[in-house]
Amino acid sequence: MTIRVRVGQGFDIHRFVDASDTQRQLILGGVHYANERGLVGHSDADVVAHAAAEAILGACGLGNIGEHFPDTDEKYKNVDSIKLLQLVAKMARDNQFEIGNVDCSVVCEQPKISKHRDEMQRILSTAVGSPVTVKGRRAEGLGALGRKEGIACWAVAVVTQGN
Ligand SMILES: [Zn+2]
Repeated sequence: MTIRVRVGQGFDIHRFVDASDTQRQLILGGVHYANERGLVGHSDADVVAHAAAEAILGACGLGNIGEHFPDTDEKYKNVDSIKLLQLVAKMARDNQFEIGNVDCSVVCEQPKISKHRDEMQRILSTAVGSPVTVKGRRAEGLGALGRKEGIACWAVAVVTQGN
């Protein structure tokens, strides 16, 4: 039996809403960060769930989330991105891939990711059905992320396929 190992990389970035918009919630890895500025997006703008989904799709050679869940589709307006991540994990398994693990690096000056890191990892791992880890990293004041204009996330996923 040959086991094929494949790796996928995912990236996502969303800008913060204007300070005047106090209604938009900040959702990261399925967790609501209370009293923090939300992110602009058609869905809930969960940059961590999106990057993780992109990494899994990339590893499986299944395209990207924009193709599967177009933001022109009203069905996905304000959708819970953890549901999208669940669908992507199912898509991988339906294509005979097993998901090894996913590792995410969230880059922002604010909020502190460590605050809800365990809960994020728990929610993301449950959605994927395999271990998902999250690390927070500051942008050291550099560029748009350093100016607190938004949040970016990089993720990597490993999948295997046996025959
Ligand atoms: Zn996104």
